[in-house]
Amino acid sequence: MALSQPTSPPSSAPAARLPCPLKMPPSPSLLRRVRSLALRGTAPRLLPHGVLFTNGRRDVSRRRVALTFDDGPNTMSARYLDVLARLGVRATFFLVGENAARAPGMVREYVRRGHDVGAHGWSHASFSGMSRERLAAELSRTSAALPPARGRPMVRPPFGRLSIVSLYRLAAAGYTTVHWSVDSDDCRTTDPRVVEAKLAPERLASGDVVLLHEEQPWTLEAVPGIVRALRAAGWELVTVRELME
Ligand SMILES: [Zn+2]
Repeated sequence: MALSQPTSPPSSAPAARLPCPLKMPPSPSLLRRVRSLALRGTAPRLLPHGVLFTNGRRDVSRRRVALTFDDGPNTMSARYLDVLARLGVRATFFLVGENAARAPGMVREYVRRGHDVGAHGWSHASFSGMSRERLAAELSRTSAALPPARGRPMVRPPFGRLSIVSLYRLAAAGYTTVHWSVDSDDCRTTDPRVVEAKLAPERLASGDVVLLHEEQPWTLEAVPGIVRALRAAGWELVTVRELME
């Protein structure tokens, strides 16, 4: 099971109850799951931020948080960008390569509006267990569909799945693997109030990287309330790259 789906329903659950079934990975073995969780817990403390980044500095004097959105571009991306523009928020989008290649105009639009973009695989297949050649192809095809990175390129492994081997290969290819420190749980609910409550200011810590997803009406509906509550509590919304600096 992926890190991003730790409490996903069993496979026998009706499909209609899954808010984003296409984002659900095939269930990996328990051993692989434990390894992935252990790696996620220890690796950020052991590795340089340029290799694996899960959160920025825990600076209590300057409360900053980065909203990240996975799986675009798609049919709702323009609406997401409009809502964020109205709120004056810049975010970080991890784009699926084959979606990006089909929508070059939308990819330019993310950047034109001041957002940062990173890779999220070409086909949204798990990097963990992928052959070296296949991973290299996923990265190069996606890179060709994205604008040049401002600095070291960022990648978020599909389903948040990490393995020592894939982490090493991503670093060797020049990428910073970006995880998250807070999951909005927007893949486990369709209720915007639940997403909003999960990201209430008192539940966040300075430097947090928040996982959200595109093409989900309930996520989009939750965003204005999340942003207003954070700003009212004195939080600054920044991109992942700004948190890295
Ligand atoms: Zn994804």
